[in-house]
Amino acid sequence: MIYLDNAATTKPCGEAVNAVREAMNGCFGNASSLHKIGTLSMQTISRAKMTALGAVSGTKTPFDGEVIFTSGATESNNTAILGAAERCRNRKRIVTTAIEHPSVAKTMEILEKRGFEVVRLAPRDYKNHAEFEDAICNAVDENTFLVSAMAVNNETGYFIDTARLYKEIKSRFRDVCVHIDAVQGFLKVQLCGDLISVSGHKIHSPKGIGALFIKKGVRIPPLLAGGGQQGGLRSGTEPVELIAGFCAAIEAYHGERERFSELKDYLLEKLSEIPDIKLNSDVECVPNIVNFSVRGVRSEIMLHSLEEDEIYVSSGSACSKGKKSGVLGALGVSDKDADCAVRVSFCAENTKDEIDSLVKKIGETVERVRR
Ligand code: PMP
Repeated sequence: MIYLDNAATTKPCGEAVNAVREAMNGCFGNASSLHKIGTLSMQTISRAKMTALGAVSGTKTPFDGEVIFTSGATESNNTAILGAAERCRNRKRIVTTAIEHPSVAKTMEILEKRGFEVVRLAPRDYKNHAEFEDAICNAVDENTFLVSAMAVNNETGYFIDTARLYKEIKSRFRDVCVHIDAVQGFLKVQLCGDLISVSGHKIHSPKGIGALFIKKGVRIPPLLAGGGQQGGLRSGTEPVELIAGFCAAIEAYHGERERFSELKDYLLEKLSEIPDIKLNSDVECVPNIVNFSVRGVRSEIMLHSLEEDEIYVSSGSACSKGKKSGVLGALGVSDKDADCAVRVSFCAENTKDEIDSLVKKIGETVERVRR
């Protein structure tokens, strides 16, 4: 099997699997219980929090704030955005992008129905990534209480420098809350924000676990009412096994940028031998996600053809499941090219041999279909 769909999800690493097994056997207590078994679980959670806080910024400086564990980034994004809206203090404007994941985009639609003004900016209207970041900053005004932007787009790897964005926004409007959906950027790029959402299953942890980082001084209400776990911010008995797996996956993560760049360069070199391929991920995109259109071959046809040889890629975003997401359009890809888009996303274990097999099969499929 050749798995090249790591932006959809990743295979849990051995360290995470072991940590889950060990926690299930030896650390099954309720973290709220006052006895020794409960304390053991609480210690596991505290350790995982330290690990997550130390890792999220992508620099040597740990995140200055707290972290809550959630069921995944969908919950983290909902908690962040709906929470910020509850604390908006009569301001009504939100600035976001037109390339957000549905867990942000649909939450914005809910807020729009509640009377908020949502401004969505599309990268296709700007020359480069820096200009796009500037446009986001320039769209913020006195009536704005929230900026929500993804660090790395899941369909093409489009990258936003969140450190630069954060600094610029804060220099002009200190009390605007900056939320970053960092699912595809976590452990891969530097991150900065008041609220940062991440997900375990994109970094070789089990599914069903994610986190929301909350900067010191930022106050949001909980999404869920309940027993008041995690400082009242996320009720529900903590899934200590998943938290242990998430922590182990963070510690074991080794997706170095240089390695991804090497794989991307090799893929692009090989693809250049096939006529009429259009690249949808520009040079400023992160190197672990490569989106391209194989003109004349619809995505589903290509996907299923590759599947015959047990090669797994995506037609764009796995979350859109065949539905046109509109994200590629907002990134400047024509409808025709979007219909033929293929997303290849790497993990550190992928090899050049796997890319050879992928490109060979793409070439064969092109010949068969275009004939
Ligand atoms: N945001 C982005 C950018 C994503 O890629 C995903 C997962 N496809 C999510 C949010 C949702 O994450 P989860 O599956 O953990 O809910």
